[in-house]
Amino acid sequence: MEAKTSLLDNMIGVGDMVLLEPLNEDSFINNLKKRFDHNEVYTYIGSVVISINPYRPLPIYSPEKVEEYRNRNFYELSPHIFALSDEAYRSLRDQDKDQCILITGESGAGKTEASKLVMSYVAAVCGKGAEVNQVKEQLLQSNPVLEAFGNAKTVRNDNSSRFGKYMDIEFDFKGDPLGGVISNYLLEKSRVVKQPRGERNFHIFYQILSGASEDFLCKCCTYTISRYDSSFLSFTIPHTLCFVGNAIFLNYCYWISFIYVFTPYLFLLELKEICELTGIDQSVLERAFSFRTVEAKQEKVSTTLNVAQVKRGPDFKGKNCFKWEFILHEYTITAQTKVRKKVMGVLDIYGFEIFEDNSFEQFIINYCNEKLQQIFIELTLKEEQEEYIREGIEWTHIEYFNNAIICDLIENNQTGILAMLDEECLRPGTVTDETFLEKLNQVCATHQHFESRMSKCSRFLNDTSLPHSCFRIQHYAGKVMYQVEGFVDKNNDLLYRDLSQAMWKASHSLIKALFPEGNPAKINLKRPPTAGSQFKASVATLMKNLQTKNPNYIRCIKPNDKKAAHVFNDALVCHQIRYLGLLENVRVRRAGYAFRQAYEPCLERYKMLCKQTWPHWRGPARAGVEVLFNELEIPEEEFSFGRSKIFIRNPRTLFKLEDLRKQRL
Ligand code: ADP
Ligand code: MG
Repeated sequence: MEAKTSLLDNMIGVGDMVLLEPLNEDSFINNLKKRFDHNEVYTYIGSVVISINPYRPLPIYSPEKVEEYRNRNFYELSPHIFALSDEAYRSLRDQDKDQCILITGESGAGKTEASKLVMSYVAAVCGKGAEVNQVKEQLLQSNPVLEAFGNAKTVRNDNSSRFGKYMDIEFDFKGDPLGGVISNYLLEKSRVVKQPRGERNFHIFYQILSGASEDFLCKCCTYTISRYDSSFLSFTIPHTLCFVGNAIFLNYCYWISFIYVFTPYLFLLELKEICELTGIDQSVLERAFSFRTVEAKQEKVSTTLNVAQVKRGPDFKGKNCFKWEFILHEYTITAQTKVRKKVMGVLDIYGFEIFEDNSFEQFIINYCNEKLQQIFIELTLKEEQEEYIREGIEWTHIEYFNNAIICDLIENNQTGILAMLDEECLRPGTVTDETFLEKLNQVCATHQHFESRMSKCSRFLNDTSLPHSCFRIQHYAGKVMYQVEGFVDKNNDLLYRDLSQAMWKASHSLIKALFPEGNPAKINLKRPPTAGSQFKASVATLMKNLQTKNPNYIRCIKPNDKKAAHVFNDALVCHQIRYLGLLENVRVRRAGYAFRQAYEPCLERYKMLCKQTWPHWRGPARAGVEVLFNELEIPEEEFSFGRSKIFIRNPRTLFKLEDLRKQRL
């Protein structure tokens, strides 16, 4: 029977971009489009999977499909997210290698769906038995809970994750799941108090309103909601949405929802009402709202907040009381076991963001993506290099753009943008976004990837496309202009100590428990870390974690802005291909040898082209391929013999073989 090689089926475009000839942006997009039009939403770049959101259910995730991809070699069948999942799982189980699955792309590109597909595939093929099934169930059920608290409807995606998620799934030596640990990054807390036009608050608010008991609603939110409906919960509440109904989580959710719904609203109620609800003395809370106390070296300095600061208070404090961390800290499904574990990490995080107005959030997200790109290149090259060594093939140096210089511009401990922002935030005296920008200008003016017009010696003095209130960074994915307004405030995003102390004094035990930092006995004079430095630290931990694992990449692409099926917008896709660095990715993958294949399948496929190997070759497969290539007079510089695989330098050689084969059939 003929071996399937959908990878080379020209009718539906090439299944692996490393085989694309010629390789340029147009051919890349055309190939994706051709495949998309034929319902092929997955395409490889070597072992990387590009996934295009079909925006409609495709019949390609059935249990039969799972069986089809199970235990098959990666290139054997047409490209699929299941092939990647299978490869990762088998490599974890059989070769004892920890894995990570890195899923990136812009909002609405299909990252979260992809992470769920990977998880459900792995759940379908790993382990059996009641105990194992319970763990699987719990792992899969974590999604609806996290989505309730961290997802919201936005203009780009009806179920947009407003946080980055990393989940380590743990397995025992047999490959049976033991449990999981979830970490989150950068929840968009500001959504609690304010949503962009046409968007909604986190799902949980609507879910609890439609699912909670009368009693519960009466206790904490009905009159609040009716009074403040327009600001906190835009849109009408959909009654069809039922509360997360899984029995395992029900209690847990109720408890957490209470905190969620309750605390952010506190600051919009009349002080008297708040005090009644929480059991805090009114004078204590009043003081907390109007003063800010800074304690240093046994000295206590209280400053009265100005009107603007007090006005900002409710929003500011409301969102900081959204105790999201609380859920995730609790959210660990780990079996207590001493068995040596293998780990599969799944990362679902925002891709590069370039909007018209880019602020601190985009800056931070793009920094994370610079770091991910850095390890992507590093690990891809490393993987290539390791394969060459394994196969005994000489390594050829590959030129590539190393974005370390951009990471340094942002994260350098002395001169990095984040360090300067921190320095500015901690400095006494008047600190504004403008003084921060001035500082950047002094320190970064000569950096190749930094652009601004503020300083007199700036190279960009006459660049009117760059407003005075902005700076621009040339990221690996392109130039992004950041609006400096709000950087200082957002970096300083803390719950002032006065408030946490007042909350700790509440007689309501839950509220008290949520603000342990307000306990005067545990006062920490050290200032809590800024948002920027917290994020930098968690990115560093994440990178360290990922570096110890074998990476598997899924690059998600959104085909159009309308959430519509069958629509492929070339310009939009082109933009994403650029910032995902996909062409560079192909270049790296085929810098040495574009294609490689084990000797057996190679001989099997092409033996018909040579009298000596047809119909049966009686020696080792490698010798057969040697005879074959010799007879076909393929130039020597076009291929190399590895230990178990033939390496082919140029895709043209492979197409030549395919053409010859077609002529004979
Ligand atoms: P992201 O996490 O990248 O923001 P999502 O994974 O939430 O995007 O996907 C957005 C929407 O696109 C989903 O709610 C779903 O309707 C659709 N979608 C995504 N991936 C697929 C897929 N593989 N098949 C069908 N529809 C999909
Ligand atoms: Mg998502």
